[in-house]
Amino acid sequence: MISIKSKTEIEKLRRAGFITAGALDAAEKAIKPGMTTKELDRVIEKYITSHGAKPGFKGYGGFPAAACISVNDVVIHGIPGNYVIKEGDIVSVDTGAYIDGYHGDSARTFAVGNISDEAERLLRSTRESLMLAVSMAAPGVRIGDIAAAIQKYNEDNGFGIVREYCGHGLGRDMHEDPEVPNYGKAGHGVRLREGMVICIEPMITAGDYKVKVLDDGWTVKTVDHSLAAHFEHAIAITKEGCIILSDPTPY
Ligand code: MG
Ligand code: MG
Repeated sequence: MISIKSKTEIEKLRRAGFITAGALDAAEKAIKPGMTTKELDRVIEKYITSHGAKPGFKGYGGFPAAACISVNDVVIHGIPGNYVIKEGDIVSVDTGAYIDGYHGDSARTFAVGNISDEAERLLRSTRESLMLAVSMAAPGVRIGDIAAAIQKYNEDNGFGIVREYCGHGLGRDMHEDPEVPNYGKAGHGVRLREGMVICIEPMITAGDYKVKVLDDGWTVKTVDHSLAAHFEHAIAITKEGCIILSDPTPY
């Protein structure tokens, strides 16, 4: 069932999204070679808790940290640990602040120092496909229209689209209906309506799109070890289009 959020609920989701965006800004500022992913996670958790929220990911399905931190060929759900970040890495950070009963959820892939041209193009394509999807989101538009646009944009750039994981509705729960895939057919799927809140989150690979889950039960890697990027925004559908809830600019 897809819930329609009231104006009050959307304000609460915006607050959660704003703190989430701030936590990602803090991570972007802090990230540097020599730092462990666990240290980066601490920066994020500290930001979230010091702004009166709770890390929504911590304990979710048993996840042990405030953020999923996924380096290079890790697509999503990387567990922060002793890995030492180095120059040339691409580091995907996915996190969410939980406040007043509502979740935030947003992700960005950061470049650490100078990265390869391929990595640069992958990050740009993934981020631009997300912003293209956001620009399309409006009442009457179908989920399939958005999915097909994300797929085409990245495939035209020569990249792969991860099939097994997708975006979702957001609210009192971190994962609500509908599913928002990153590949599909235009003209198919749920029609967006004013008051829906969804996360759009392309997970894009530089090589083949096939992924596997490691023995820790969380870490998702590309099978061919190609690089992967992940950008995510939570948006609320409005009368005219949408607003980005995980926008770092003050409102
Ligand atoms: Mg996320
Ligand atoms: Mg999400």
